[in-house]
Amino acid sequence: MLLIKEIVGFGSDSTGVNGLIEKAVSGRWIAGSSIEDAVKKTRELNKKRERAILNYLGEEFTDKKDVDEACNTYEKLIKEIKKRGLKADISLKITQLGLRISNEFALENYRKIVADAKRNGIFVWLDMETADTVDQTIKIYESSMKSRNTGICIQAYLKRSAADISKLAKKGATIRLVKGAYHESEAIAWNDRKYVTKNYESLMRRLFLHSKKFTIATHDSKSINAAMKLENEKGNKVSVTYAMLNGIRNNYADSLAKEGKEVSIYVPFGRRWLNYAYRRLREKENLRLIAESLLKR
Ligand SMILES: Cc1cc2nc3c(=O)[nH]c(=O)nc-3n(C[C@H](O)[C@H](O)[C@H](O)COP(=O)(O)OP(=O)(O)OC[C@H]3O[C@@H](n4cnc5c(N)ncnc54)[C@H](O)[C@@H]3O)c2cc1C
Repeated sequence: MLLIKEIVGFGSDSTGVNGLIEKAVSGRWIAGSSIEDAVKKTRELNKKRERAILNYLGEEFTDKKDVDEACNTYEKLIKEIKKRGLKADISLKITQLGLRISNEFALENYRKIVADAKRNGIFVWLDMETADTVDQTIKIYESSMKSRNTGICIQAYLKRSAADISKLAKKGATIRLVKGAYHESEAIAWNDRKYVTKNYESLMRRLFLHSKKFTIATHDSKSINAAMKLENEKGNKVSVTYAMLNGIRNNYADSLAKEGKEVSIYVPFGRRWLNYAYRRLREKENLRLIAESLLKR
């Protein structure tokens, strides 16, 4: 993390090598710093028949002021989505809503946002973060399921996820399946990408068996092809969305949307992009592409 901070310079120096890397990293994956930037990106996506999943950047807050600011931003964002008739969901992090301060505080903030989103016809995702937050994230999610406008992310690298998916799917949860972006110990997670992908595809099959509506969130064509094959077999008994991150394989996402698939793009915005960029840079393919684009300048 320190290394990335040093490389990126966190906006302190927007010239020279720091500025170039900052631009390559943040400009590629982040819509911009403001709600207006998120709206602009959403309009571009909507024109291509793609939905946006909007995330206001920020996590691991321990100061109530930061939490309040995030909650206020989501409130404004919900108003803008509604006012402008955008096809967009929102995606929150529970540590952004105050989990590190107290469970009750995070739950209260989450409930307020979900109720506000419900009044405005907007869907709310809960991102999944580090393994120590999974139990609480699932509990908080479960408390909102009745309102029927919420979904939760589940990470295939965690060994517990098969059980979580079975339990949640039985209750009618809406699940977004990802591989997982944090670093977790071997005791609880697979670290070898081969095993993660294998488990991803096994969990995906479980979703096709036990769930009616879910999101396959990956850039991996092999897994996406396998999902599309299962989707064809199931016909209209399931509703599957394919989701990718903004700036990663978006031509591929466009081609899926053109084929008539439901496609969503996860679009982060805001100034606190360092942790997000760090997670993307840990992904081998992204690091290679960033290095190539910097060399081409
Ligand atoms: C919509 C969405 C929401 C997410 N939400 C969360 C969350 O809440 N919590 C969480 O922990 N993680 C989340 N993630 C991140 C996720 O966990 C992975 O870290 C990330 O998606 C990379 O994994 P992958 O499935 O794309 O597979 P990888 O194993 O990274 O890549 C598989 C293959 O995909 C192709 N590929 C990948 N990247 C590229 C690229 N840049 N260019 C060309 N080909 C590429 C390559 O063929 C590669 O071999 C989310 C991801 C998405 C798409």
